[in-house]
Amino acid sequence: MEKIVTANLRRLPSVDEVLKTAVAADAIGRFGRPAVVGAVRHVISQCRANAAVPDRPEEVTAAAVSLLEARERPKLRPVFNLTGTVLHTNLGRSVLAESAIEAAVTAMRSAMALEFDLEGGRRGERDDHLRGLLCELTGAEDATVVNNNAAAVLIVLNTLAHRRETIVSRGELIEIGGAFRMPEIMSRAGTKLVEVGTTNRTHKKDYAGAIGAKTGIIFKVHTSNYRIEGFTKEVSARELATLASERKIPMVHDLGSGTLVGLAQFGLAHEPTVAEAIADGADVVTFSGDKLLGGPQAGFIVGRKDLIAAINRNPMKRALRLDKMRIAAIEATLKLYRDPDRLAQRLPTVRLLSLSQSAIEARSRRLLPDVQAAVGPLFSVEVTACESQIGSGALPLVTIPSSGLAIRSSSARGAGRLLKRLAAGLRDLDIPVVGRIEEQALVLDLRCLDDERAFARNLETLDLSEKRNESA
Ligand SMILES: *Cc1c(COP(=O)(O)O)cnc(C)c1O
Repeated sequence: MEKIVTANLRRLPSVDEVLKTAVAADAIGRFGRPAVVGAVRHVISQCRANAAVPDRPEEVTAAAVSLLEARERPKLRPVFNLTGTVLHTNLGRSVLAESAIEAAVTAMRSAMALEFDLEGGRRGERDDHLRGLLCELTGAEDATVVNNNAAAVLIVLNTLAHRRETIVSRGELIEIGGAFRMPEIMSRAGTKLVEVGTTNRTHKKDYAGAIGAKTGIIFKVHTSNYRIEGFTKEVSARELATLASERKIPMVHDLGSGTLVGLAQFGLAHEPTVAEAIADGADVVTFSGDKLLGGPQAGFIVGRKDLIAAINRNPMKRALRLDKMRIAAIEATLKLYRDPDRLAQRLPTVRLLSLSQSAIEARSRRLLPDVQAAVGPLFSVEVTACESQIGSGALPLVTIPSSGLAIRSSSARGAGRLLKRLAAGLRDLDIPVVGRIEEQALVLDLRCLDDERAFARNLETLDLSEKRNESA
């Protein structure tokens, strides 16, 4: 027996033989010689390990090419976000406006006057491209930009309260997710956390009593991803700012998902705007670029000129700065806010959030036959009303009426397993489709589905056979 296997293995083609085939020459043109040689070696060694001898060397090349093609597929891929969460952190938050995309592409292709003052021919500042716009849109004296809002909070605390105390209400010591917890950020920023009040109630006298010789800043955090209800008391930003200015201490307001315009005009609940936070007297306000604002990932810091100047002098600034692509995309995004009337047409985040339930329901009806055809008789599909969420911690308790397709197993037996197989099949499509499973149904919220044709075409290759799932 052993002898037969050994005899067989001796018939395995050599790497050289395989590389001489026409398919291999073609593959070398596509992937380069070293990659093809590596893949061919890998396939041959697999054949040896499995004692499987191919009939022709071309079979080895074909297997090697499949390996190389799979490896070429981008790791970071577009998906259809049908989760119902518009700003989904795990799915990359905002989809950018066309003008922002064009600006970023131009910046990628070309040398840019990033830190170069074209008028005077001298060295310039990379933040200058955004400073004016941010001041215009928020009413702040000055502005600076860093990698994201977590970085904004870190550098603000480190600049204004290093080796000093930061006073915060116990009701605002938030965790945003991942490793971003306010107390830990504070300790890394080198500031001492002084908690005041209780989880549900904090009074002005609590803050006043905590102020001392070592106080660096009074810090207010917009608790954007949860809400404390019932017997509660928080000190308003305006009251805090007044107290802070009386005691000559800077008041910093972390808005999280700051918006630049009132969202009520788009039929959404009101979220405090950055201009309001500045008008309420905050000395420094921090907010995200890729939450409600609808731009690329960034953290904005706006406020008093002397404080922004100190932040810019912090060596951390160099470690947290933005590249030319993002600065270009941010500039284009911010410019859209000069014309709020057309924001819903031009800025995808606002457009998606303000889509009416009836418009989405019409979309659900149009796509129902395609989805039913793709999932086959094992499942039944129906139009369903559902609730979208804004996501990224913005307006956590606010949901927006939406519509979608609910896919259920046609029979009760093994329904859970079938739904999981369906979800896996959808994730395995060329453009993966991500929905959510709730109450024995896979729900596809169609709010964020822009390209219905591409969605329907993509579904044509849906494979729900058991075998595919096992091999995957
Ligand atoms: C989201 C958020 C942050 C962090 O912002 P990123 O842009 O995700 O870094 C900080 N503070 C608050 C209040 C937030 O909501």
